Amino acid sequence: MLVDRFNRRINYLRISITDRCNLRCMYCVPPFGERKLRHKDILRYEELLRIARIAIKLGITKIRLTGGEPLIRRGVQEFIPVLAALEGLEDVSITTNGVFLKENLEMLKAAGIKRLNISIDSLDKEKFKRITRFDYFDQVWEGIETARDMGFYPIKLNVVLMKGVNDNEVFDFGRLALEQPYHLRFIECMPVGLAENSLAFIPNAEIEKTLIDTFGPLIPISPGLHDGPATRFRFEKGKGEIGFISAISHSFCQECNRLRLTANGMLLPCLLSNTEVDIKDPLRRGCLDGALIEVFQEAVSLKPECHPLGLENNQKVHRKMCSIGG
Ligand code: SAM
Repeated sequence: MLVDRFNRRINYLRISITDRCNLRCMYCVPPFGERKLRHKDILRYEELLRIARIAIKLGITKIRLTGGEPLIRRGVQEFIPVLAALEGLEDVSITTNGVFLKENLEMLKAAGIKRLNISIDSLDKEKFKRITRFDYFDQVWEGIETARDMGFYPIKLNVVLMKGVNDNEVFDFGRLALEQPYHLRFIECMPVGLAENSLAFIPNAEIEKTLIDTFGPLIPISPGLHDGPATRFRFEKGKGEIGFISAISHSFCQECNRLRLTANGMLLPCLLSNTEVDIKDPLRRGCLDGALIEVFQEAVSLKPECHPLGLENNQKVHRKMCSIGG
């Protein structure tokens, strides 16, 4: 079992399978793209599977695939079913921008994946294009609706609202949670990478207030087994739900149960700190499982009590979110 210095049990691994993305979200990826990792520096699928097996031995029961954009990596259609079938794994999910969701839904369903997170920061086609720099709104929306029709549940829609960009869409997102079974997740914009000096930050309390003023009371939902740090609500007659992930205004580090693995094989003890532990090097040097277990243990031992943002010695996060995976 992986237990850190603060007695938190670590049972959740987020794996970024590629640093590449087919969108350039204005707060995440620079307009002309990010410098790409060299092919040889990216963990191969068999390496990812070996790491996943070791992680499961250590008590990881939940894996989420992310990126970059996970659905653009070649071979992902063969990789996901093998990963999802690993013994001991209770839950595999994926965070995607949804551009290639529709054509992958049959594969995801057959692999037993039910829970999807799709990032969509605007319900307006033109604004979607402005934020992501690509005209893929219709494609993404079709993927979301098809997933709903195929019975995927829950379908979480990740939304980062930014002042002066898409904050006028609170009403549209709220109405969506009223009328459709989607789980909206408002994620506070973290001061990382391109968002580092951004004035666009909106505390989730502001969004919550607007929603209540517009649609009436939000009824709390008690946390489920697979719930992360979101505080969850529904409207009285709502088909969907509203969740707030308030990493900046309300730290939830005391409940953190996760590690992250980057596409180039670094284990990150915390999303918002710069500590990294290299697992690719010992893996490629041919180390036995025991040595790789020690790498996991080291990463867990380095988990900080709380992320360092907002503290007096306000630290900058060196990586961009597109190379961490969120
Ligand atoms: N390409 C996939 C996607 O779009 O969902 C996975 C990677 S993306 C980096 C994962 C999530 O991180 C997205 O929901 C995105 O909105 C979020 N994200 C990126 N930068 C962020 C920031 N500075 N603050 C909060 N969330 C951020």
